[in-house]
Amino acid sequence: MLICRDDASVIDAMRLINQSGKGIVFIVDKNEQYVGVLTDGDIRRGIIQFNNIPTSVGELVNRSAVSFPEGTTESEIIQSLKAAGKPYVLMVPLLKDGKIVRIVELEKTFYAPIANPTLNGNEMLYVYECVTTGWISSQGRFVRELERQFSKKYEAAYSTTVMNGTAAIHLALEALGIGEGDEVIIPSLTFAACINAVLQAGASPVLVDVERDSWCISPTEIEKNITDKTKAIMPVHLYGQVCDMDAILAIAKKHQLFVVEDCAEAQGAKYKDKYVGTMGDIGCFSFFGNKIMTTGEGGMCTTSREDLHQKMQKMRDHGMSRDHRLYYHDMVGFNYRMTNLQAAIGLAQMERVDDFQAQRKRIQNKYNEVLSNVPGLQKQVTLEGREKVCWLASYLLTNNVLTRDELILLLKAKGIDTRPFFFPLHMMEIYKKYQRSECPNSEFLSQAGFNLPTFIGLSDAEVEKVAHMIEQLLAQNALKSPHAPTHVELLNLS
Ligand SMILES: *Cc1c(COP(=O)(O)O)cnc(C)c1O
Repeated sequence: MLICRDDASVIDAMRLINQSGKGIVFIVDKNEQYVGVLTDGDIRRGIIQFNNIPTSVGELVNRSAVSFPEGTTESEIIQSLKAAGKPYVLMVPLLKDGKIVRIVELEKTFYAPIANPTLNGNEMLYVYECVTTGWISSQGRFVRELERQFSKKYEAAYSTTVMNGTAAIHLALEALGIGEGDEVIIPSLTFAACINAVLQAGASPVLVDVERDSWCISPTEIEKNITDKTKAIMPVHLYGQVCDMDAILAIAKKHQLFVVEDCAEAQGAKYKDKYVGTMGDIGCFSFFGNKIMTTGEGGMCTTSREDLHQKMQKMRDHGMSRDHRLYYHDMVGFNYRMTNLQAAIGLAQMERVDDFQAQRKRIQNKYNEVLSNVPGLQKQVTLEGREKVCWLASYLLTNNVLTRDELILLLKAKGIDTRPFFFPLHMMEIYKKYQRSECPNSEFLSQAGFNLPTFIGLSDAEVEKVAHMIEQLLAQNALKSPHAPTHVELLNLS
């Protein structure tokens, strides 16, 4: 029962609200004429305002609440609530001659963002400590503690925190002395931070293709593109998958090249029992808001070489000498330090990173349960010796029912946030001059791949709901015609 007379006591109204579990009652007068709504929030505010509990709910009722005439359809209601700037209203009465004839309950619109940080551990406590103690810049216990914990957890000899993942890659290249005249081999299918960092170091990026199965840089393509100028290879462990490290390290050894691992999307992944970030000369991590763990913005460089560690520690701190007098610089450095505030969040995240990984895996497995059997959808492969992690649940759409972009639009209309795979670097105007050989796999994967919502708060039921939506969309469109729906039809949806 959601209707209450305006001369009822506040306590009675509270009882009704409590029983219905909807947080709301509709108020009518003694002639059953609709007066307005009352929520538990209205009652709270009323009591505060009157500094007293009023005798009847009539004094508290919100009289400007919306109502609709009998016969209004749900979609008309939704439209008009949107237009009135009240999309949050979930229950409305339908009136005939001023009397309530029906109460329409609108379905909460489902919205699943692609990613969402989980910050309900010790994050607040540690940040509070920073603020109350005044340790908010880059000195402070959390910076050192995060580096220590990271080294311990991922079996790295040394870890250096930095302000973001791109700075991590740039610092790594600078520490290895890579610059003008040097070539760095990177995959064409990756986030642009990789190529930007190489260019920032003054070196020349060389874009090569990825493997069709792992989506990661192809050792064969690396070897094909080595020249006298090649100084380093940057394997990017893409979408949680691990590069073919044995092959890459063998090539690096043979040609005396440095290896800078980009582990931004694969924290915790392993290649034959070795964590990513421990196999190359330097490993680079990102703690951006959508990564496996976050510090808001942040990054890390790992290495097993003490000399590189010392150099990176110094370079991130303006290149200031640690042995000489204060303010004496003996190398050109950067201010790439992470703040204690960021590290505070990072440490709290580290405490729960195993759980984050497990939850992401749960979500991925749940998607796979439904989507594995959907024709035209390909899940990520598991490869011998490579222990991938789940960053964002990733799939390829390879049928001719819908294009990937059409599927993305249809899902968007249903409140499902997705991401297309990265755009191949060699196909962008500003980077295309760095392509040296064909990259068909990068091109194919880039137009077929997409990521689905993957954040800890997604329940199994919600994951299944998303997966079934995809299954349905593909099935419906397959029935309609062998061709994709028209673009006009799609544009109306967004
Ligand atoms: C996120 C990401 C980066 C850059 O990290 P930021 O912290 O955003 O600077 C680099 N490489 C890859 C593959 C990434 O996904």
